[in-house]
Amino acid sequence: IKRNPHETEFHQAVREVAESVIPYIIENPRYRQAGIIQRMTEPDRTIIFRVVWEDDEGNIRVNRGFRVQFNNSIGPYKGGLRFDPSVTLSVLKFLAFEQTFKNSLTGLPIGSGKGGSDFNPKGKSDQEVMRFCQSFMTELFHHIGPHTDIPAGDIGVGNREISYMFGQYKRLAHEFTGVLTGKSLEYGGSHIRSEATGYGNAYFMQEMLKHHNESMEGKVCAVSGAGNVALHCARKINALGGKVVTLSDSSGFIYDPEGINEEKLDYVTELKTVKRGRISEYADRYDCDYYPDKRPWSVDCDLAFPCATQNELDVKDAKALIKNGCMAISEGANMPTTVDAMHRLQDAGVIFGPGKAANAGGVAISGLEMSQNSMRLSWSAEEVENRLKIIMRDIHDKCVEHGRDGDRVDYVKGANIAGFIKVADAMLAYGVS
Ligand code: NDP
Repeated sequence: IKRNPHETEFHQAVREVAESVIPYIIENPRYRQAGIIQRMTEPDRTIIFRVVWEDDEGNIRVNRGFRVQFNNSIGPYKGGLRFDPSVTLSVLKFLAFEQTFKNSLTGLPIGSGKGGSDFNPKGKSDQEVMRFCQSFMTELFHHIGPHTDIPAGDIGVGNREISYMFGQYKRLAHEFTGVLTGKSLEYGGSHIRSEATGYGNAYFMQEMLKHHNESMEGKVCAVSGAGNVALHCARKINALGGKVVTLSDSSGFIYDPEGINEEKLDYVTELKTVKRGRISEYADRYDCDYYPDKRPWSVDCDLAFPCATQNELDVKDAKALIKNGCMAISEGANMPTTVDAMHRLQDAGVIFGPGKAANAGGVAISGLEMSQNSMRLSWSAEEVENRLKIIMRDIHDKCVEHGRDGDRVDYVKGANIAGFIKVADAMLAYGVS
């Protein structure tokens, strides 16, 4: 805390991991002697830079750009870029730290990083977003590369932004290499990459339910968010037999007890990605309730999928979910549940799948995009989705192996310990570095 004052999100992420990993280190003193936990909580490197761009009125605007290169013990740095006014060094350090464990859990050779800017893409024209992305990449270019650091998307960074940044990298580097993932199919992207985080989250829930002799069939599901992760998660829930009744954005949530089917999801996808509108418009179109400035955790549901942002589910929300009979939660977003809310849910017997395991499908398919780029190959959608299913099942099984606690499974402990071992062993092998 002294070394990282005011970095509350980073402290929160470290505390959550430490709760499970420190008892494990005490049982395995070779990690303690090597100071592994101190080394794993300090990023390899943090880059902070000025991003200057010109808006449509000719005003000069200044934002701050970041890249946190956290740990490359098991592969090149890898993790998304977030463009949002709430971006700070603390937020990016928490995300990069989480990414260390998540990337390790995928079983792929990828290290961890995260970056972005306090730039707000909302309300900006395509030309403004392009000028910002080009300026951002003009500096970031010096720090990334296909064997060094391979960023991807995150909040506020979708296919449009990745395309502008990849175009600028290509101009600066004079070469065509897979330096970003989440690219379009026509220039090196992978099938299922956009869908992977949301689909993977639904598959992870399915695995947890199967392990507890349950299934998704007929389950009422509360989903938050209306972005990339939320919408693809909702589609896969529908495909697996569940019924999605909520979606949200930063202004409020909609409750549609009839179920948000594929046609309605097509409407929301168009609303959010093309018209860049608000979720409240759904309520007018489909005649259902809209709750401004509220989160969807007060509705009756069997399963909950927080897929919007960090700390969007607190103790009050946890109590409401428990009271309304929610049996399982799978986190699509990164750290959407506060530590106290997570404890409350686990103590009440709610099956709890933490984001670093449940949302690892996105980075896993990014890892497969890197493999396809290196081999100059493109696998079919079916092949990639089959691999995604296998990866999510393997992650689930690792959580069970390390999180078994009598006849219940502590998925948080399982994910933290399984993610920790591979990175810690690599660091031990390198000696003191
Ligand atoms: P998007 O930008 O596509 O969507 C984000 C959604 O969350 C939007 O509906 C947005 O609403 C809502 N949101 C943002 N901030 C808040 C807030 N403060 N309160 C309530 N709602 C909010 O992002 P993604 O779907 O890509 O990412 C969502 C989460 O999933 C993040 O935590 C991200 O780190 C995580 N994640 C994403 C991965 C990916 O592959 N994209 C991979 C792994 C994790 P609005 O439209 O109003 O801004």
